Amino acid sequence: MKKRRITKPVYVGEVKVGGDAQVTVQTMTKTDTRDVAATVDEIRQVEEVGVDIVRCAVPDMEAAEALAEIKRQVRVPIIADIHFHHQLALRSLESGVDCLRLNPGNIRDREKVELVVREAKSRQVPIRIGVNFGSLPPVGGIGVTRGLSRHRDGVNVLPKAGEAEAGDYSVVDHMVATGLWEIGILEDLDFDLIKISLKAFDIDTTVEAYRRMADLVPYPFHLGITEAGTAKSGSIRSAIGLGVLLYEGIGDTIRVSLSDHPREEVETGFEILKSLELRKEGAVLVACPSCGRADVDIRKLANDVDQLLKKTKSPIKVAVMGCEVNGPGEAKDADVGIAAGAGRAIIFRKGQKSRIVDEADMLTALMDEVRQVESEILAAQA
Ligand code: SF4
Repeated sequence: MKKRRITKPVYVGEVKVGGDAQVTVQTMTKTDTRDVAATVDEIRQVEEVGVDIVRCAVPDMEAAEALAEIKRQVRVPIIADIHFHHQLALRSLESGVDCLRLNPGNIRDREKVELVVREAKSRQVPIRIGVNFGSLPPVGGIGVTRGLSRHRDGVNVLPKAGEAEAGDYSVVDHMVATGLWEIGILEDLDFDLIKISLKAFDIDTTVEAYRRMADLVPYPFHLGITEAGTAKSGSIRSAIGLGVLLYEGIGDTIRVSLSDHPREEVETGFEILKSLELRKEGAVLVACPSCGRADVDIRKLANDVDQLLKKTKSPIKVAVMGCEVNGPGEAKDADVGIAAGAGRAIIFRKGQKSRIVDEADMLTALMDEVRQVESEILAAQA
């Protein structure tokens, strides 16, 4: 894995993004932000699974005002997601949000952006410049308030990353140019609390846009594959797109966009980071896929263990293996492992055989060992 790209960190509330900070996981609420109780409830659910930062949609003034009460009732930093109307950004700042997301594709008036930046600067609140393929400004009209309608803006005829030939003005060029336009406004006002995102559904386009911008500016990146899909397809698409960038050392905070509960987004985000060893807290489950050799119901055992490990905060590696082929090897390599045999299973702890248990006691015995190792880890950390 390549060394992490050096960036100028910002603070979203007390959460550091960029620099030497660990890559953070964020999500977006799916409730109506005006419904404070429902939104707070959803935020608490993602707080439980360890989310670092939460973003809320701000479609109108009532939502911007509701953010003040939402902030009072939750622990995680809140980002206001702003489109079209700069007044919503100003009102969200008054509500005490920890960061703004502005879309340069739909707030295209320099003076309006400047008003927001001045206010954010006086409050030392960072701004994410969120460029998105679905809402790019018209080709030839970046920063132009009035112009071609979105239906005739020319964006959809631009070649995507894989299609562009030398000399073509591509979607990637347009995304990067759009981001640079707004970065320029912020920098002209000596504002550098900046994060950037350049999202598309197309992985090639997204990866190229981030790579290009990485060479141009020192600001941290919020990574995402936009409108990635449902829990399964979207998680895979996000893991591939974000995985390529993170492996190259690019990316400081991530959001997995799924047509599902935000909890799912957060859990997937952490799995991506854990796979790359960019986040260490939380259990890692090694589980064999099972096959005709398996002596016990590995699918059930692995899923039961996975559920029970969800709230584990310690960086513990647990292996669930179905037979003697790879079982002992993997089980020994984990902090706690189980290698099943006919009607019985061997439990390993830190590479040593710990005990042999009957099939009926496997889950309880394995989780017992996990809890013991966890308390050892906690004691060592204390
Ligand atoms: S560990 Fe054994 S049961 Fe599991 S997939 Fe490998 S051979 Fe099959």
